[in-house]
Amino acid sequence: KTAGDKTLKLRGVTLSFGNVRAIDNLDLDVKPGEIHGLIGPNGSGKTTTLNVISGYYVAKGGTIGLGDRMLQPGVPTLRAHHGIARTFQTPRVIGEASVLQNVMIGGNIDGRASFVEALFALPRNRRDEQMLTEKARALLGVVGLEALADVRADRLQHSELRFIEIARALMLEPDFLLLDEPAAGLSGDEIERLAALIRAISRRGTGLLLVEHHADLIFDICDQVTVLNLGRILAAGTPAEIRVHKEVVSAYLGG
Ligand code: ADP
Repeated sequence: KTAGDKTLKLRGVTLSFGNVRAIDNLDLDVKPGEIHGLIGPNGSGKTTTLNVISGYYVAKGGTIGLGDRMLQPGVPTLRAHHGIARTFQTPRVIGEASVLQNVMIGGNIDGRASFVEALFALPRNRRDEQMLTEKARALLGVVGLEALADVRADRLQHSELRFIEIARALMLEPDFLLLDEPAAGLSGDEIERLAALIRAISRRGTGLLLVEHHADLIFDICDQVTVLNLGRILAAGTPAEIRVHKEVVSAYLGG
């Protein structure tokens, strides 16, 4: 409750599609620097939760806040201003643009909601452009893909695009980063690189909320894990607690 409290807090968040309660009275805390895993069977509400936090969907009830500050529902660009960035289950890139340009888009949050508009929006001046370029190059280095800066994005492999999306999200220097199945389609080596990257991001104080099917990765890197089932919390705790949680093991981990 201190002035510096920046915990991402969901309280009683509910959202239905027709008569399907996609998420039901959900409470969730992600602290700065925490790696928080969100797992559960298909249809349990994981992606809906990310979409509500990032402002793509509007909750029917409950509140989402950063510390004591409430976030307005349904405004993705405002989320960016509040320091919440995300990646998508299917990487979204502009194929004809270079990798570097695709990363630079992430720095463009001045109210232009559309991805394409952001790409073609001119930086205010050459100095802005140079700063964005340098930052994007540096972040490509962070994700290990600086050699691909000038390659067209549609020449890249799916796994490379996942890392490009993370670099783009980091352009915001976000306080929270929401990752939707970042390990999907990655090889074992690439998952290890991803794990190291996620740890490095959390060490700089960014909180991560990670929707992921890859249970080994979740248990390896997360500080906290929340298990959803039918839009409700089945269990929440540390990986050590969740691994041995009876209902989780029988309903989800298949033990
Ligand atoms: P998960 O990510 O855990 O697989 P989702 O959040 O995608 O689950 O879905 C939760 C529930 O909400 C499911 O029953 C799903 O069919 C429903 N749902 C999700 N998105 C929509 C949508 N855009 N329209 C209608 N129903 C949806």
